Amino acid sequence: MERKTHKVLGYEVDLLTFNDAVKVILENIKEKKGMQIVTINPEMIELADKSKVFSSILKNADMVVPDGSGIKLALKLQGIKQEQIPGIDLAHELIASCEIFNYPIALIGAKENVIQTTVKRLKSEFQGINISYYKNGYFSSSKEDEIIDSLAESEPKLVLVALGAPKQEIFITKCRKKMPEAIFIGVGGSFDVWSGEVERAPEFFRIMGCEWLYRTIKQPERIKRIYKTLPMFLFKVIIEAARKNG
Ligand code: UDP
Repeated sequence: MERKTHKVLGYEVDLLTFNDAVKVILENIKEKKGMQIVTINPEMIELADKSKVFSSILKNADMVVPDGSGIKLALKLQGIKQEQIPGIDLAHELIASCEIFNYPIALIGAKENVIQTTVKRLKSEFQGINISYYKNGYFSSSKEDEIIDSLAESEPKLVLVALGAPKQEIFITKCRKKMPEAIFIGVGGSFDVWSGEVERAPEFFRIMGCEWLYRTIKQPERIKRIYKTLPMFLFKVIIEAARKNG
């Protein structure tokens, strides 16, 4: 399938449905074409503007899906209708497919109790799941090479990395040098949700595109992140849309 993208503040975002995203990823697993999938949100764009390394990772990603409602809105302002593709849902669907095809998967990230519970819960939800490797996300950089070697030896087809942005994307770039055929996706706080540590926003908030608001109410420490990035992001996307439309 030909890749169709559109730029938001200089970063290409893929225009595709949730189902097509899954289809493309599964095709690439079959054809042993490795991928780095980024689930983009306004905070990541803000981070990328301050970091050349992160910006180049975003620009070179094989698939960039609009995780945040902010990205969906930015596209809408440019006249493009694109559904939101939450990374957590995409990752969950991919796990379900990997179970069917018996593709080994690996999970890296989150606190030790969170990753343990996540593995336990996934094994009970997907009884045929093949988890070839898992590791918590609190390791020193001196252990990184060792971890990447063990991960590569376990030969997963899909690797979910939950270290938060930009740490997870930078880690994925390092892994890919040893594992060019695997599919990598940065999944942020997904393991916290799957383990039950953090509650997912109720459907109402999700449908309204206000998952961020719910997460901020539940985790007030996130307010600093939102307050610092969201108003500026909105300002910039309105200017961008006015320029393009005008
Ligand atoms: N995390 C980690 N190692 C670190 C820093 C963070 O494993 O050194 C984990 C953290 O425990 C959490 C996830 O990364 O599970 C980041 O979650 P956050 O909610 O910040 O991600 P978002 O979804 O907002 O990108």
